[in-house]
Amino acid sequence: MIAPFPSLWKRLAPALILLAPMAVTAQTHFNGAKALEYARQFVAIGPRWPTSPGHLKAEAFLRDQFKHDQVEEDTFTANTPIGPVAMRNFIVRFPGKKDGVIVLGTHYETNYWLRNINFVGANDGGSTTGLLLAIADQLRAESAHTKILEDYSVWLVFFDGEEAIKSWSDSDSTYGSRHLAARWGRDGILGRIKAFILADMIGDKDLDIQRESRSTDWLVSLMTQAAKRFGYDRFFFQTEGPVDDDHMAFVTRGVPSIDVIDLDYGPNNSYHHTYQDTMDKITARSLTIDGDVFLETIRLINSR
Ligand SMILES: [Zn+2]
Repeated sequence: MIAPFPSLWKRLAPALILLAPMAVTAQTHFNGAKALEYARQFVAIGPRWPTSPGHLKAEAFLRDQFKHDQVEEDTFTANTPIGPVAMRNFIVRFPGKKDGVIVLGTHYETNYWLRNINFVGANDGGSTTGLLLAIADQLRAESAHTKILEDYSVWLVFFDGEEAIKSWSDSDSTYGSRHLAARWGRDGILGRIKAFILADMIGDKDLDIQRESRSTDWLVSLMTQAAKRFGYDRFFFQTEGPVDDDHMAFVTRGVPSIDVIDLDYGPNNSYHHTYQDTMDKITARSLTIDGDVFLETIRLINSR
């Protein structure tokens, strides 16, 4: 710290010392650097489009990260424009004392149709996989002694097949979330979900999360409140528009859902779905903001 005005500093110092313990508690932040490091390791696998060797490596990476947790591998066959494709969602469960579940989701694979340009999806799939891995660390720590969270269960879902195989349409996209939402509907699980929070493309430097139009109002309000608590207002919901994403299969089934997405990526969105979506565009700072707000939103849902 630099104190340019020594006399003023001297006068303020006692007051600052008194304030210090309070300030420390109020400023405990999510470990965005850890999330970034996870993203870096995951993205280093390279392209991970369905049917590729990279996809198998991505699966193995997630399996290894969660080897001591309650993991379900949800395998299914997607009917795609290139025929049947084997896909795999990962569901990681952190059980809680209260009856009800908060689901955090991301997709982890990259686009089949970008398979010839070395597309690694650092922001698109990579950053939010890192984010959820670091959130898992936090949940693990919170339940370390009791093996159970104090509040609602938190389930992390890593969706496969969010991206189109050939070109985006209702039937060629979001394969993993459509499959899982339908299955959970049949199994009666959807009714237990208090909130579905989807993270997509929110690791970039210039964080500008839009208010996705079909997202549930009260969940948007809660997240706005969470962002305000950290003084992050300007990064959230300054613009509004509809985005088709993995939340829609849950929205249409009546599950309170929010898509936390920043679809403005690079100058004129030039990094989105291009070879420029690389790790140098991602920052720990943005992932800290995301993590702080996600965890605070979970707290607010629990005290609702
Ligand atoms: Zn994408």
